[in-house]
Amino acid sequence: MRTTRVLGLLAAISAIVPLFADEYLSGKKWSEPPVVEPGPVGGPPSDAIVLLGGKDMSAWHGGDSWIVNDGVATAQGGGGVTSKRSFGDCQLHVEWAAPEKVESSGQGRGNSGVYLMGKYEVQILDSYQNKTYFDGQAAGIYKQRPPLVNTCRKPGEWQTFDIIFTAPRFDASAKLEKPAYITVLHNGVLVQNHFEIEGTTAWDAGPKYETHPDKLPLHLQDHGNPVRFRNIWIREL
Ligand code: MG
Repeated sequence: MRTTRVLGLLAAISAIVPLFADEYLSGKKWSEPPVVEPGPVGGPPSDAIVLLGGKDMSAWHGGDSWIVNDGVATAQGGGGVTSKRSFGDCQLHVEWAAPEKVESSGQGRGNSGVYLMGKYEVQILDSYQNKTYFDGQAAGIYKQRPPLVNTCRKPGEWQTFDIIFTAPRFDASAKLEKPAYITVLHNGVLVQNHFEIEGTTAWDAGPKYETHPDKLPLHLQDHGNPVRFRNIWIREL
């Protein structure tokens, strides 16, 4: 009886103070994570590549047709822009604003888009009290997946996309080995959660994969609406 009580007491103590426990060690050898300065709220962190931060669109092909003022770039209907550098797996931060003056409806209102690898579009649209097909509204993977929620701000207000993208992989015989995956936070709210991208996101064709390099340029769409952009940065993963 006495022994039982002593053992019980010891068990109670060891639950609080792990006197008789051995620390678990995974045995895995990790290298120390590099230090990254987070920078101001909204970034860019110290290891990011800034694609739009200052006065110009020098990081982009086609930027001459956009107007840049105080770090804000606006599409002018003269065509989209394509980054000079190529990217594969990445973390991407984009700030955008639909025109304050509402002039159209549906897909004609604040339409633009972030094309990962120039092929896979995260839709930009003024989806504030603006109905359209659900997989074509803001933060939708165009014609594949609506956002989980509609968290669009009012026209004219600045909005954020934070995108985590895993590029697709193709094997030596040009067959798809692994599809692309995408996670999107719109204004800090999760709207795409590790979605498996089905292929390219065309308006007039279903999704399909065609072999391409591991890295390709990023593209911002000009859909004829003066959508504004600022503070675009990317981290290669
Ligand atoms: Mg678009």
